[in-house]
Amino acid sequence: MKLSVNWTKPLIRYAVVFGITMSLLLSGCESPHSTYTKYTDSFFDTFDTVMTVVIYSESQEEFEFYLEKIKARFRELHELYDIYNNYEGINNLKTINDSAGLEPVKVRKEILDLVLFAKEWCRLTDGTFNVAMGSVLRIWHDYRQEGLHDPSIARLPSKTELREAGKYTDIDKVIVDLENSTVFLADGKMSLDVGAVAKGYATEIVVKEMIALGLKSAMFSAGGQIRTIGKPLDGIRERWGVGIHDPKQSILQDEGLLDVIFFNDASVANSGGYQRYYVVDGKAYHHIIDPDTLMPANYYDLVTVLSADSGVADILSTALFVLPYEKGLSLIENVDEAEALWVMPNGEIKATSGMQRLMRSLGATGSKTD
Ligand code: ADP
Ligand code: MG
Repeated sequence: MKLSVNWTKPLIRYAVVFGITMSLLLSGCESPHSTYTKYTDSFFDTFDTVMTVVIYSESQEEFEFYLEKIKARFRELHELYDIYNNYEGINNLKTINDSAGLEPVKVRKEILDLVLFAKEWCRLTDGTFNVAMGSVLRIWHDYRQEGLHDPSIARLPSKTELREAGKYTDIDKVIVDLENSTVFLADGKMSLDVGAVAKGYATEIVVKEMIALGLKSAMFSAGGQIRTIGKPLDGIRERWGVGIHDPKQSILQDEGLLDVIFFNDASVANSGGYQRYYVVDGKAYHHIIDPDTLMPANYYDLVTVLSADSGVADILSTALFVLPYEKGLSLIENVDEAEALWVMPNGEIKATSGMQRLMRSLGATGSKTD
């Protein structure tokens, strides 16, 4: 049974988790006894975000060996999970959407697995996380793009338009046929949107493959969603430290930190209204949509979820963002080895007891004496 303790930090009203900055700061010093060196690199061409990889390895060659594999695999998964672009010679999620109501599409295992995983988590979250909401999410996406392009004409979709699109979001009409390796959308007006899971799910695939190749100590940041492997091999720390930042501060400054959490072999994902939004009549409308109201959810400024699996962390951060606190708490209590932290609009912070044990503000450290 996990308990939740509430306390207030009125100064910090908006928070963003951005792990890599803090980790880099913490890992500045390396023990002379460590035979490992920290290498890091970033790339920008996958999943619409910046990917950063930190690896402790025994040589530059070893680092580059992993880095090339990691980049190539992220590119491949990006193409498979893309809902906006076609690629020569492959069937991806866009192909499935384009064939809605027409025919099943033969796809690779990575797509079959992702779709099955997303269907299962739609059930486990009682439809709060639903990849079959493409029709509704597309409307918000298009209005947001229009409003960002020219703020003077920014407008909201009408209730009628949203309700009409909301009729075509039945996850049971996403049909996976494992025998024939196909996915079929049994309704011509429906489409998949995997924005709340693809990045985390792809990261988990890449991480598992790199561990199988022998990678022992690394941290991945997929646009601020963190997955750590092993412990930092700097000869000093026992755990990776991931910072939770105040988004009002520059992410390059070690200021305005909400907290730091310490963990190995797990992932932390965050969902917040500050990430992607547009403004209509002075009010911000963000990108995480409540399937019941078909409107952006507004319970929190930020939700952070920790889980061993980065696909699960990604999904749960979105699902919790859409759920009122009591419902979210009961969902997270029913998921094994998942912890959460909520930042309310008034600055109040709530966290599961397991999350509290990892938090610097409550006494956790990444050192050997923990
Ligand atoms: P980010 O991608 O910015 O890290 P999230 O992981 O919370 O943030 O995912 C947000 C994306 O998930 C949205 O851009 C949209 O594509 C999709 N999405 C929004 N609401 C839902 C929902 N209720 N269920 C499933 N997907 C959603
Ligand atoms: Mg998410």
